[in-house]
Amino acid sequence: MNVEIRKSDIEGAGRGLFATKSFRPGDVVHTIARPAVAELDTERLQDSCAWCFHKGASEVERQQAAALGLPEVHVDTKACTGCRKVRYCSKTCQAKAWKREHKYECKVISVPGRPDLPHGVRAAIKLLGRLQADPEGKDEGLLDILQFKPAVDGKALEWIKAHQEQKWEDFNMLAYGAWKYCGEPKHEKIDFQSVCRAFFFNVSPNHHNQTSIKTYPQNLTKPQVNCNTISLTSPLDDVSLGLGFDNLVCSANHSCDPNLFVVFNQPQLLIRALKPIRAGDELFIKYVDTTNPFSVRQAELSSQYLFSCRCPKCKRGATHAEDKLLKPADELKPEFITTADNLVKRHQPQLHKFFIPATPAEAQRRVSAIQAEAFAVSGTTFDYQKANTSSSLDEVKDALKLCLNSGMWSLTRQPVPHLLRQLQVHYMSTGEIYRAWRIGAKKHFACSPTLFPQTFYPDRVIDCWTMANVTKALCDNPATREVYVETKKGGLDLQVVFLGFMIELHDNIERSYGWESPFGKVVAQAYQQVMASVPHSEEKVREDVKATWPKLEAVAKSVDVLML
Ligand SMILES: [Zn+2]
Ligand SMILES: [Zn+2]
Ligand SMILES: [Zn+2]
Repeated sequence: MNVEIRKSDIEGAGRGLFATKSFRPGDVVHTIARPAVAELDTERLQDSCAWCFHKGASEVERQQAAALGLPEVHVDTKACTGCRKVRYCSKTCQAKAWKREHKYECKVISVPGRPDLPHGVRAAIKLLGRLQADPEGKDEGLLDILQFKPAVDGKALEWIKAHQEQKWEDFNMLAYGAWKYCGEPKHEKIDFQSVCRAFFFNVSPNHHNQTSIKTYPQNLTKPQVNCNTISLTSPLDDVSLGLGFDNLVCSANHSCDPNLFVVFNQPQLLIRALKPIRAGDELFIKYVDTTNPFSVRQAELSSQYLFSCRCPKCKRGATHAEDKLLKPADELKPEFITTADNLVKRHQPQLHKFFIPATPAEAQRRVSAIQAEAFAVSGTTFDYQKANTSSSLDEVKDALKLCLNSGMWSLTRQPVPHLLRQLQVHYMSTGEIYRAWRIGAKKHFACSPTLFPQTFYPDRVIDCWTMANVTKALCDNPATREVYVETKKGGLDLQVVFLGFMIELHDNIERSYGWESPFGKVVAQAYQQVMASVPHSEEKVREDVKATWPKLEAVAKSVDVLML
């Protein structure tokens, strides 16, 4: 074992994960074949394999991929004939799932007239079934879940009980419901109801949403809170797949400056070093987006995870690159003062969560209000989760204008990168490839290297994949022929740019998702095809790319994101 679980060095944090040997950035620290608990989001039940978590595509997605000339990365799934509620991509997946867990769930979820159960309840049913069959829980360490407490603060359960009675009741009811559905199992050594409760309080669906048992289960379908949860996403289309729990990964504490990162390789979890690690070092992952400024991270951690972060970075307060504004708060341009004062009124109750330290107080309130407004549109934090999907293109553009034109925000200060990403995703979904490409190029040079210094960081690798695909679409799509020709006249060959993104992807996949991952295999195949189709050696291609990159950077520099 390269890692061990023991008492954390952090005061009040309980257990933590430690390295037993040293690692260089990108090294594999540990792999887990499949998290102890892995559960598809309810929306994914219809199109994804419930065992390996490979995603099927909707007809629309297939058409979009075909129109852009993207490789086919989705699978076909067939429903379990027993329940017709879950699907599998192959007989092998179905057999494995049945043996380990689905046999406990199939009958329970197929009772006629029973509403679709939230994924937390489904996961708990399978967990109880597995524990009944193996009451010692030896094989998987399933009983370890009893040792987990939500959040760093060990008193979180008491706190929830005292301050959020509704939530306390909901979780207890869900736990009781799952136990009931399972036929009220009993055992002299295990209190199954406690296991169920521990499960909900740790791997719970949604802490902060005001859910009530009356509206159950409709309101409990989306996980937003991940006390000790790993959120499982697909790198190929950047889609949320479900939630996971694993004793080992979930023992790692949070830091806003983590030394580990975790990728989900459908269904494997791969844990890698982000920074140099020495034997004996405590290992940290991130629970929230660490590119967000101090106040936003703190608010998110306390609202979702019930602790205030005391990592070395947070101890220094709002003094890091992600907190910096371009100018002092009291130098806000006069034409933005009225706008900001109106925003202060609108965001008053939330303002402390978007606090930007500054004097005088009124300047501080104004800039904090701008920050609150922009985050509300970007929807990238807790309270505004819902705003994300409903933000229109105009709202995103307005929020970008507000930040950038105010003269306070740089391109790397959140939520500007979040907003740029939203804009890019929007244009990709509407087929406006050239716009999506220009935003992507801007982000590639102006945002990513600052936000994620490691070139193998998963977000950067995924961005490269997106840019390779978008660039290829620009080259091949008859509708963008003119763009291709014009760009080439201007001295930039998009074919070479495409090759450049493929090379960057190729050179970084080994230290991120790995060649053995489903993503890695798609990249390997695409890379081989690409290199086989060019008439020169790979060495020559790399030289061409090297010569072309400064031209691409110049083009990216000239992109005005407010004009898109
Ligand atoms: Zn499968
Ligand atoms: Zn079934
Ligand atoms: Zn922190």
